[in-house]
Amino acid sequence: MKSQFKVQHAETLTDDLAMRVYTSRLLGAEEDLVMHGGGNTSVKSTVKDFFGRDVEVLFVKGSGWDLKTIEAPGFSPLRLNETRMLAQRDTLSDDDMANQLRALLLDQTAPSPSVEAILHALIPYKVVDHTHADAVVTLTNNASGEAIVSQLYPDCLVLPYVMPGFVLAKQVYDAIQIHDLSQFKGIILLHHGVFTFADDARAAYENMIQLVDRAEQYIAGKVSAGSFASAASSDCDLLRLCDIRRSVCQVRGAAQLAVLNDSQAAAGFASLPNAGDLATRGPITPDHVLRTKRTACIFERESVTQPDDAQPPIDEATQFARDYRAYFQRHAQTSMTMLDPAPRWGVWKNTGTVAFGSSLKECKIIADIDRHTLQCIQTGEAIGRWEALPAKDIFDLEYWVLEQIKMAKAGQPKVHQGKIAIVTGAASGIGLATAKQLHADGCVVVGLDVDPNVAEVLNSDSLIGRVCDVTEEETVKSEIARVVKQFGGLDILVLNAGVFESGETIDELDESWSRAIDINLTATQRVLRLCIPYLKCGYEASVVIVGSRNFSAPGAGAAAYSVSKAGVTQLGRVAALELAADQVRVNTVHPDAVFDTGVWTDDALKKSAVRYNMSIEEYKTKNLLSREIKSTDVAALISTIAGPIFGSTTGAQIPIDGGNDRVI
Ligand code: ZN
Repeated sequence: MKSQFKVQHAETLTDDLAMRVYTSRLLGAEEDLVMHGGGNTSVKSTVKDFFGRDVEVLFVKGSGWDLKTIEAPGFSPLRLNETRMLAQRDTLSDDDMANQLRALLLDQTAPSPSVEAILHALIPYKVVDHTHADAVVTLTNNASGEAIVSQLYPDCLVLPYVMPGFVLAKQVYDAIQIHDLSQFKGIILLHHGVFTFADDARAAYENMIQLVDRAEQYIAGKVSAGSFASAASSDCDLLRLCDIRRSVCQVRGAAQLAVLNDSQAAAGFASLPNAGDLATRGPITPDHVLRTKRTACIFERESVTQPDDAQPPIDEATQFARDYRAYFQRHAQTSMTMLDPAPRWGVWKNTGTVAFGSSLKECKIIADIDRHTLQCIQTGEAIGRWEALPAKDIFDLEYWVLEQIKMAKAGQPKVHQGKIAIVTGAASGIGLATAKQLHADGCVVVGLDVDPNVAEVLNSDSLIGRVCDVTEEETVKSEIARVVKQFGGLDILVLNAGVFESGETIDELDESWSRAIDINLTATQRVLRLCIPYLKCGYEASVVIVGSRNFSAPGAGAAAYSVSKAGVTQLGRVAALELAADQVRVNTVHPDAVFDTGVWTDDALKKSAVRYNMSIEEYKTKNLLSREIKSTDVAALISTIAGPIFGSTTGAQIPIDGGNDRVI
C-alpha cells in the first residue's frame, strides 16, 4: 500500500477541517482499508462558540457518513474536554453515552458522533485515523494471530478484542495510563483494526499506510497469488437461482434481489471442497455482521430439500433461519427482540456467491464485503487457520443497540421493494409511465421496446431500457434470461407492447390485420409463455395485461386492433386459471382515451375532435366523469394491481376510461 498524499494539494487547504476531509477521503478511497461506512477519523481544533470564546473541539466522523465521500459537515464538533472526561468514568451505558455526546455537540444540527468519539478524544494527538484494514485484520483472525502481530508490530500497542464504544475507549484509557503513546506508531486492535495518530494529518495518514503495508508485505511473503481459488464460471441454472431467491424472500417475508457473482474468484471459492466450512466461521470484522449476518447460507448446486421427520422437507434458507434462531436464543438476553433470520449472502456451490438485499445498493455493499471476505479467508488459511471472533462477540455487536439505531434509519420499504419487473413497449406512453411507476414503487425494472429510444429514456442501473423486438423469439428469450441472471428472478410482468392502426374497414384490411395480430396478440402470448417458468418461482408474482376499452366497446374501422385486444383479454383469463395454483395473478386493465401516448399526435387529436364536432379539450374528456386520463394514471393503476392491495384478485378486467356507458 502506497501513500497517495499530494503535498501540492495539501498546501491549498487552509484549515484543520479541510485537511481532515482530505486525508479521510484518501483513507476512504482505499477499499482494502475501509468499506461502506467503516472506520472513522478525527481532528482536534479550536473554534469560537456562540459568544465568541475559544473552545477546544473534537471534530469526529458523524454517523451516516462514509470516509470515501465525507465533507466538512460530516464531522460532528464535540466539546473536547467534556468528551475526554467521559472516559474517566467507570461505566457508561449506551443510552448515556449517546445522550451525553449529543449534549456536547456545538451544533445540534450536526450528525450523531461516531461511537468511537471518546476514544478519539482521549488520544493526546491532534489527528487520529482508524481503519479496519483487510491485511491487518486477516493476520489477527488467525489461530496464531496474536503472536504474528506482536512480532510484526513491536512499535505498536497491541490490544485484545473488546466491544467498540465505551468499553474500547476504557481499554485504551487504561492502557495509556501505563504506556507512553509517544513510543508507539499506532494501536492494533485484534479482530478489529488499527489506530494511528500524530499532530500532523500527513504523518497520521502515512503511519496508517506504513503499518498496513507491513502486513501486506508479510502476507505477500507467505501467500502467492496462486493460492486463491479460481474457476471458470459455468452455465448458470436460472431456475435454481430463482428457487434460491424465493426461499430467501420467504424466510425474510419480503421480496429481495439476488445478485449473483460468478466471477472466476467467486466460482473458485464456491468450488472449494470446504467452502461451506470457511464461509460460516464468521466475518472479517465484527461490524460487517450488520450487513452480512455472521455466516453465509450454503446452497447446493441443485435444489435439494432436507428430510424433516415432523414437517415437510426444508430448503437451505429455512435451515439457515432455524440455525439463526438457535444462535439468537443461545446469546440473547431476555429483553431482546430477534432481527429477521434471513441470510444476506450465500455460497452457491460450484457456481459463485449471491448477495441478497432490498435494493441494488444494498446488494452492492454486501457483494463488496463478500469479495473482500473471500480474499481474507483464503489468505488466512494460507498463513495458518482462519478464525473469526467467537459467535458471542459477533452477536453482541449485531445486537448492540447503538448499531441497531443506525440500521433502523433505513425507513419504510416501498410497496414493490426488492421486486423485479419486465415491461414491454416501454419507450413511450403507458409502458414508459408504468416502468417509471414500478421503479418509483421499489422495483428493479427492465423495459423492452423495439424503439432504440428505450435505452435513453430508461437508463439507470435499476431502471433499464433494452432494445427488443417482441416478435423475435430468440431475442425475447435472451433478454428475459438476462434479467433473471442479473437480479435473481422475475415477479412482475406488464404486457403492454402493441400497435394501433385505425381507419380501415374489414373489407379494406390487409397487412395491418396480421401486423396487429402478430404484435398485439401473438407476441404477447410469446413473452408471457417465456416468462411463465420464472414467474412461477417469483415472489407474489403478478402479470398485468394492457387491454383496451375497444374489447367491450369496439368501434367501426378498428377490427384488427379490437380483435387483438379481445384476444389478449381472453389470454389473460385463461392464464389466470392456469397460473393460480402457482400463486401467479393475471389481470387486465382496459384504458381508453389516453392521449399523451406516442400514437396520438396533435394532428390526429385535432382530426378526431373535428370528427366529433368537439374542441380538443371536450374530446379528451368525453367520458361519463368528464376526466382526462393520463398515462401516469394507468401506470399507477397497474402498479397497484401488481401489489398487495389486489393480492386476492386474479382474472379481473379493470376499466380505466373515465366511465363509458357502453362498457358499463
Ligand atoms: Zn472500528
